[in-house]
Amino acid sequence: MKNADTKFNIEVLKLLPSIDTLLQTPSALAIREESGAKKLTNLARTATDLLRAEVQLDGSDCDRENLLDRAETHLRRAWEYQKSKRIHRLINATGVIIHTNLGRAPLSENTKKTLIDEASGYCNLEYDLGTGKRAKRGLRAENLLAELTGAESALIVNNCAAAAVLVLTALSKGGEAIVSRGELVEIGGDFRVPDVMEQSGADLVEVGTTNRTKLADYENAITENSRLIVKVHPSNYRIIGFTETPEISDLSELARKKNVLLYEDAGSGALIDLSEFGLSDEPLITRSIASGADVVTFSGDKLLGGPQAGLIVGGSEVIEKIRKHPLYRALRASKLIYAALEATLDSFSRENAFKEIPVLRMLSMSEARLRERTETFTKELKNKLGEGSNFDFEIIEGTSVVGGGSAPAVKPKTALLSISKNGWSAAQLEKELRLSNPGVITRILDDRVVIDLRTVSDDDEAYLLEVFTKLHIAV
Ligand SMILES: *Cc1c(COP(=O)(O)O)cnc(C)c1O
Repeated sequence: MKNADTKFNIEVLKLLPSIDTLLQTPSALAIREESGAKKLTNLARTATDLLRAEVQLDGSDCDRENLLDRAETHLRRAWEYQKSKRIHRLINATGVIIHTNLGRAPLSENTKKTLIDEASGYCNLEYDLGTGKRAKRGLRAENLLAELTGAESALIVNNCAAAAVLVLTALSKGGEAIVSRGELVEIGGDFRVPDVMEQSGADLVEVGTTNRTKLADYENAITENSRLIVKVHPSNYRIIGFTETPEISDLSELARKKNVLLYEDAGSGALIDLSEFGLSDEPLITRSIASGADVVTFSGDKLLGGPQAGLIVGGSEVIEKIRKHPLYRALRASKLIYAALEATLDSFSRENAFKEIPVLRMLSMSEARLRERTETFTKELKNKLGEGSNFDFEIIEGTSVVGGGSAPAVKPKTALLSISKNGWSAAQLEKELRLSNPGVITRILDDRVVIDLRTVSDDDEAYLLEVFTKLHIAV
């Protein structure tokens, strides 16, 4: 019997379509337009391999025609799968505003427009139209940044981790950098303060304790080899209770007296006061500069709401020293970053940031407004799905998350739309939404899928309605 089966399968294997036959099918010809011939051949090989494996497991009901059909289906699926790996838009319905896995800050409308219309082709990145000569790269973005933070000068690199490595290398390599034990943190994505310090060639001098570090601790640690006092914002981590850490102004006075520099890595950093939204813990860059920090670094795509970038602001002499370091050339940002940053900073300059920058708009959206939006959305959804839909909706109280390693203790109140589908587990519904097109990323709370409209734009809301309608029809 076993022998007969094997023989049968060998006969069936002979019916498998050849790669060449598969390449001539309508599906293959359509895919080829998008994939190119070489990739198509690879996909056809994958599809045929899969089919062969299937047939070896179960060779019943096979003829030449249905095997070719099945090969075409495998081919289409393989292509869809490859396409799904491309960077593509998603709907963030998690309520996590600065979601690192989903690309952190969504860009403002004028930033998107600037990127496409002004920066995607040739542009005046390093060119002065007045003189017709080479000019400094990204000068206007730097000037805007200095203006908005009250610093004398500014410099832009690829991300805040790069900014920290550059500042530490340029200012403390071969010397000592003093840090509080309460600030030797890991920010996430493998950014660990002690490792970064080691990488930059500075000798790390730890002072104080995990929860309390006093001004005298810093003072006692300063030697003739000391170059920097480093203050790191703990970002995603808080020590509460019996704690102490000196003010920037006191550290700055000490630094001046001892002839060392004061560097603050502010992480998220805020360009405008966000204490109204509970973010009083996030360093205000203007305040750090006004309090005497010699150099401050922060991210472009956290609370600033712009592109990924590392922003360095401080005194002109210090910034020029950093700019002249060879590492700067290796970490310099592209024209896309300068253009996006400039457009983002323009919103702050116009004092329109809360209106125009999505991160700030989402952060400042009131619970009442969110409830109103959620009620309207639920009504529209019910209308669209009609009577007899097997979805069940309920609006509940909940909280959003700032994210991006910012303000871990701040939980803005929101209205959540809790969704369930008859006969489905929450995990099943979550997966189905995630795999729909565009993918919708949700949260599971108490065994229910929840949607937080705080992170869903008006445009996304329309998409979201469509996704549910399709899901409703499909299953
Ligand atoms: C987030 C953060 C960084 C890293 O910033 P990236 O822009 O992600 O490189 C560095 N330091 C602090 C304190 C941070 O919060």
